[in-house]
Amino acid sequence: MSDFRTELVAWLEENAPKSLHGTASSPFQGHWGGKSEFPSEDHRLWFERCLARGWTAPNWPKTYGGAELSLEDARVWQEELFKRHLPLPLVGFGLTMIGPILLAAGSEELKAAHLPGIVSGEVRWCQGYSEPGAGSDLASLRTKAVRDGDEFVVNGQKIWTSHADLSDWIFCLVRTNDEGVKQVGITFLLIPMNTPGITIRPIPLISGASPFCEVFFEDVRAPVANVVGQVDQGWKVAKALLAHERTMVGESIAAGGARAPILFTYTLRDHAIDVIGTDENGLRDAAVRDELVRSEMEMAAMKLTLERTKDRIRAGDQPGPESSIFKVVGTELNMRRWELALKIADQDALGWEGDAYSDRNIAMTRQWLRSRGNSIEGGTSEIQRNIIARRVLGLPK
Ligand SMILES: Cc1cc2nc3c(=O)[nH]c(=O)nc-3n(C[C@H](O)[C@H](O)[C@H](O)COP(=O)(O)OP(=O)(O)OC[C@H]3O[C@@H](n4cnc5c(N)ncnc54)[C@H](O)[C@@H]3O)c2cc1C
Repeated sequence: MSDFRTELVAWLEENAPKSLHGTASSPFQGHWGGKSEFPSEDHRLWFERCLARGWTAPNWPKTYGGAELSLEDARVWQEELFKRHLPLPLVGFGLTMIGPILLAAGSEELKAAHLPGIVSGEVRWCQGYSEPGAGSDLASLRTKAVRDGDEFVVNGQKIWTSHADLSDWIFCLVRTNDEGVKQVGITFLLIPMNTPGITIRPIPLISGASPFCEVFFEDVRAPVANVVGQVDQGWKVAKALLAHERTMVGESIAAGGARAPILFTYTLRDHAIDVIGTDENGLRDAAVRDELVRSEMEMAAMKLTLERTKDRIRAGDQPGPESSIFKVVGTELNMRRWELALKIADQDALGWEGDAYSDRNIAMTRQWLRSRGNSIEGGTSEIQRNIIARRVLGLPK
C-alpha cells in the first residue's frame, strides 16, 4: 500500500463519521456549499474535517485551500471514498466548472477572490448560459452588456439556470459586441446573485421538485474586472468550461458505475436477483442476464477510459472535444440501464408516488425519468454528435 493510502485509510477510520459509511448512492452526492443545508450534523462534521486537510479540493493549490495532492494521491483519495460509499465532502459547479477555468485562465486577482470561497464551501455558483432562443445555438445569446466606465450594465434573461435560487454567484455569457460572426462579441462575466436588478424565478416542473430557474437582469452593474479572459473573447472560455461540464456528466454517470445503485448500496444486480431469482446458471432469465452483464462491462470500460482524461485534468490540462464522447456514451449507457431496471420491475415501475409502491421502486422510476435529462443538459446528444463528427473525426460539414 502507498504511504498516502495507508495514512488516508487510518484517517478515514478515525474521522469519517460511521453514520455516513455506505450512504452515498452516487459518489457525487455531497455538500453543495453556500446556502445549502447539511442533511445531518455528521455531514457537517465530515465536511469540516476534510476542509481542515484541504480535501474539499484535493488537487488544488494549497494557496487557495486545497491539498495539492499528486495525480496518483488524488485518485487514491477518490477511490477510498467511493469504496466506502462516503459522500464527497463538497460538490458543485464551483469545483467542477468555474474553478478549473479560473485556475487555467483567470487573472491572479480573480483566482485569489474566488477560489478560496469555493474550497471552503462558502460560495455556491450557477451557470448562466442558456436563454430562450439560445440553447443548442448558444452563440445566438442576446443578454447584452454595455460598458459604462469600469463597469458593464447587463440586461436580458437566462433560463434553465439550475439552482440559481440557492447560488451566490453566476458565471454568465453576455453579448458585448453585435458586429461580425456571433461567436465573437461574447464575454464571460462573473456576477454576484445579490446584485440589484437580478430577479430569480423558479420554474415548476410536472414532476414536482425542480432545480430550474429563470434569471432576469435589469440594469445590473458588474465590474469589468470580473471578466474571465478578454472582453469579446469569452466563447473560447465558454467552450473550455463546457468540456469540463461534459466530462463531469460522463464521470458522474460512470462513477455510479456498473452497479447503478437504486437506493444507497442496493444495486441493479440486487434488484434483478430479488425480482427474477437465481438458479444454477445465475440469474434465472438469460436475456436479462445478458443485458445486465453487457451494461456492467460497458460501464466498466467507460470508467477506465474516463480515468485517462481525469488524470490529465488532475494534472492541470483542459479536456478537449473528446469530452463530447464521454457525454454521449455516458448518457446512452445510463438511459439503457434505467430502462433495464424498469423492465425488470415490470408493473412495479408504474408508480410515481403513494403507498401502493415501495420507496425503492418510486426512486427507480424517478431516476429513470431523470436519466432522460442527461441527453439535454450540457448540450444535447445531437449537438455532441455534431461536435464529434467535426472536431474529433474531422468529417466535412
Ligand atoms: C437537467 C438540466 C440542467 C440544466 N442546467 C442548466 C444550467 O444550469 N444552466 C444553463 O445555462 N442551462 C442549463 N440547462 C439547459 C441546457 O443546456 C439546454 O436545455 C440545452 O443546451 C438545449 O437547449 P434548448 O433546451 O434550448 O433546446 P433546443 O436548442 O431548442 O433544441 C431542441 C431540439 O433540437 C435539436 N437540435 C437543435 N439544434 C440542432 C442541430 N444543429 N443539429 C441537430 N439537432 C439539433 C436538439 O438536439 C433538441 O433535440 C439544463 C438542462 C437540463 C435538462
